[in-house]
Amino acid sequence: MELKNRIEQLKKKRPGYGEILNFYQMVKEAQDKVKASLKIDPIRLKKEWKELLAKEGFSLIQKEDFPLDIEASAKLFQTLCQIGKDSNPHMAEQVRKIKEAIDNKRIDLKKLLKKGVKEQRIDQVAEELELDKKVFLFLIHSSTKPSIEAGMEQLRSELDPETWLKGYCPVCGSLPSLSLLKEETGKRYLLCSYCGYQWRIDRLYCPFCNNKEQESLHYLYAEGEEIYRIDLCDKCHQYIKTIDYRNLEESDPVLEDLATLHLDILASQKGYKRPVPNPWTI
Ligand SMILES: [Zn+2]
Ligand SMILES: [Zn+2]
Repeated sequence: MELKNRIEQLKKKRPGYGEILNFYQMVKEAQDKVKASLKIDPIRLKKEWKELLAKEGFSLIQKEDFPLDIEASAKLFQTLCQIGKDSNPHMAEQVRKIKEAIDNKRIDLKKLLKKGVKEQRIDQVAEELELDKKVFLFLIHSSTKPSIEAGMEQLRSELDPETWLKGYCPVCGSLPSLSLLKEETGKRYLLCSYCGYQWRIDRLYCPFCNNKEQESLHYLYAEGEEIYRIDLCDKCHQYIKTIDYRNLEESDPVLEDLATLHLDILASQKGYKRPVPNPWTI
């Protein structure tokens, strides 16, 4: 289903999400526009790396190895700042501070985008400029996301998504943000929070602590919303949200996640933590 139409559907069901879904739509459309004309260097994999992947369970590359189209990312950053400014007063204030720092040359945007993967560096800059770290990180990550996804697409053919079965991404080593049930048999996949790659895992499995014991893995869902589920692990007290695509037309999982923040609140009230929070909750 087209993003626009799905967003309309979701807004009708839960009007309270209207503002955040509109914001999502604008950002996503800006990102998709950039994707068409990206210039990304090819990723050359060393043979040893691939051997390590097979033998030791290392990811193919690391987060900082993704080639970025810095020009396109910088342009997107500006667009996202504009969208943010028009979206709510808090974002507007943050964007004002960021623009000021760029104008005063306290921030070199292109350099910062290159270093965006190193969250410590971003934290440091945010502190110096008294910025809201979450907003700042969100803007940086969202601006480089199209490049990162294009890099992941380059590497897709190097891997078999069905055989990895681990709790972290075989492409970049990051943790998953969501789990997805697909096909009639309900095969379960994880979605990488960083590069967007999807890989298969066992139905009964906590990706954060590798727990496979039935007794300590549960799930909960809201009545009338059985396509969304929170998978809880009593060993590590963490959870992952699962979207059941067996009863849902193809739709952007990040959007579905954003439209079900009430489930995250429910899980948090029960004392469970989400290792990779939804980045849109800024
Ligand atoms: Zn990844
Ligand atoms: Zn666990």
